[in-house]
Amino acid sequence: MHTAHPHVPANAIASLWDKHHTDNLNRAHLRFSDISQVVEQLAQHDAITSSVVGHACSGTPITRLTVGRGPLILLAWTQMHGDEPTATAAVLDWLHILLTQKLPSLDTNWQSLVTLHVIPMLNPDGAENRTRVNAQGIDINRDAKALQTPEGRVLWEQVQSLKPDVAFNLHDQNPYYTAGEAGETATIAFLAPAFHVDKHVDAARLRAKQLIACMADAIQHWLPRHIGRYDDTYSQRSFGDNIAATGASTILIESGAYPGDPHRQTARKMNVVALQAALEALLSNQYMHKSLADYYRIPDNVEDGLVDIKFSQLQLRCFDTAFNADVNVNVCRKSGKATIKHIGDMSVQQAFHTPDTAGMRVLPLKGYVVNEPLSLTRELYLQRLAEGWVYFIGDDGHITNESGLPVLCVPEALPQPWLQPDTPAYWLMQHDNGHIVAVLNGEVVWGC
Ligand SMILES: [Zn+2]
Repeated sequence: MHTAHPHVPANAIASLWDKHHTDNLNRAHLRFSDISQVVEQLAQHDAITSSVVGHACSGTPITRLTVGRGPLILLAWTQMHGDEPTATAAVLDWLHILLTQKLPSLDTNWQSLVTLHVIPMLNPDGAENRTRVNAQGIDINRDAKALQTPEGRVLWEQVQSLKPDVAFNLHDQNPYYTAGEAGETATIAFLAPAFHVDKHVDAARLRAKQLIACMADAIQHWLPRHIGRYDDTYSQRSFGDNIAATGASTILIESGAYPGDPHRQTARKMNVVALQAALEALLSNQYMHKSLADYYRIPDNVEDGLVDIKFSQLQLRCFDTAFNADVNVNVCRKSGKATIKHIGDMSVQQAFHTPDTAGMRVLPLKGYVVNEPLSLTRELYLQRLAEGWVYFIGDDGHITNESGLPVLCVPEALPQPWLQPDTPAYWLMQHDNGHIVAVLNGEVVWGC
């Protein structure tokens, strides 16, 4: 992306974030109890009005923080999906900086031009359980029409009563998206959602796309290859699409992974920079200089462009057929369990880790039957692995794992002795020189 206009105000807000973000919110996950104190402190500020706008199923309050009294109405909400906390930290940072710091690029009278409403953590019950869904088990973002969730009703009532000109729908995406085919991790992805299956662009949606072009310009200094444009297939049950249909310029931001940053602090900071860029572009009308081409210049946000671990060019066997394939493995962030994702030609995918196992021969999966209590020391486990047993069959309560290594124990033998997608990532491989290498929960254990 090029910068057609030199007005890129991002440096000031970025360095203010470095100094003034809340360290306590640097966590892999955020629950209501993690943010309540920060929200209360913000609410003390003279310029902020805090209102409880509803309650989650459990009774936990849903709070809206409001700054300004101007005619341009902005509404942002976060963590509608309970396990997507990155933007919750970001909006709290943003409000804190807006209220306590002087931004040279922001008109001093901005609060008379704008009313900014922020709902941090729309789904506190999902946040508590670290689930996408709310306590009812419903994905709130598929409830925009049925409105069976109290949280969804809160959001819809806010949209109906506030009538925002610009709406920011703030989410997290899984770490496997890339910015373009074979690109880098998509740390931030943007979308101006469609409001109709035909994906018309009306004035409001055009403004959303222009604002996104400004936001992408602002963050590209830090993330030159990590910005994606999310797929705009119309989703009739989703809030973004329905809010876009009210005439609000609606902007989805998906926070994503950045290498070596498990708490997504890069995406957190970039949300702040992007939101500030949108605010300033609106106030200065700079967004009007952007075209649809500036929006479409952002590369596609590609699903499954990445995996956690890629074992390239293994020799495998299925019945009597030998073949070569890559084996991709993903590791669940919550459970830590590693699962085979794909087998085959995975040259289009990149991986966070690529162990050097090329040419190794995968051995048939053999399970060792456990009928009685077993103290599994490292020595004993390595011995079993060297004998060709890679998992255990029986009651996992029998095994006391003292090995320090991951153990797979299943009630019955696996249906096939060869690797399959969606099964636990445990197998043995043999090197040309005869050495056995174990893959245990995706981790390579050399020299069994
Ligand atoms: Zn989401």
